[in-house]
Amino acid sequence: MLFRQLFDPETSTYTYLVADEGNGEAALIDPVLARVDRDRRLIEELGLTLEYAIETHLHADHVTGGGKLRELTGCQTVIPEKAPATCADRVLQDGEVLQIGEIPVRAIATWGHTDSHMAYLVNRDRVLTGDSLLIRGCGRTDFQSGDAGTLYDSISQRLFALPDETLVYPGHDYRGYTVSTIGEEKRFNPRLARRDRSDFIELMANLNLPHPQRIAEALPANAQCGCLSETP
Ligand code: FE
Repeated sequence: MLFRQLFDPETSTYTYLVADEGNGEAALIDPVLARVDRDRRLIEELGLTLEYAIETHLHADHVTGGGKLRELTGCQTVIPEKAPATCADRVLQDGEVLQIGEIPVRAIATWGHTDSHMAYLVNRDRVLTGDSLLIRGCGRTDFQSGDAGTLYDSISQRLFALPDETLVYPGHDYRGYTVSTIGEEKRFNPRLARRDRSDFIELMANLNLPHPQRIAEALPANAQCGCLSETP
């Protein structure tokens, strides 16, 4: 398997490239519109064919590159079931497996940051957690149908049920971390370790975070897979 973590410094977003080097099939998870040229060049250089642009959720902080990549490469755009977007070629349900060549990508419903968020277990040994579980943190729950109790249940019952050695690759990082493990987050994540559900809900209700700068632009654009020109 070829696996690459790519970064957008403007929004601190990670995009992941997953490919089967055997048949050259590739997928990008959470591509960023402003980085489409970089991602496309990399895929071309490596001799890969982009089959899918996959979203963990509808983002509020950046515009997705999914629609642009579809236009340029003919790939399919893939979003979680119930995500409020009309543009996708395919939706994934909880437990559904998408094959990238020989590599299985299994959708794990991890609602709470939004009410249609998916994490993706790639190759059975690493999980792309989107904005559910972050390294020593978690996604916010104060807009986009977010719900702290639901996020607690998703992390504690779905993600923490994975083997401790499972690698954790988040959708964002703001402090320079790149990868963790499920076991490490169970022990050291300050939002979750030794906190019960009601402690977590109280903590999340008192974060007082500023609103994302680009939410007014990002949400309507992402409902169209990032193709602003298609927005009515
Ligand atoms: Fe998000």
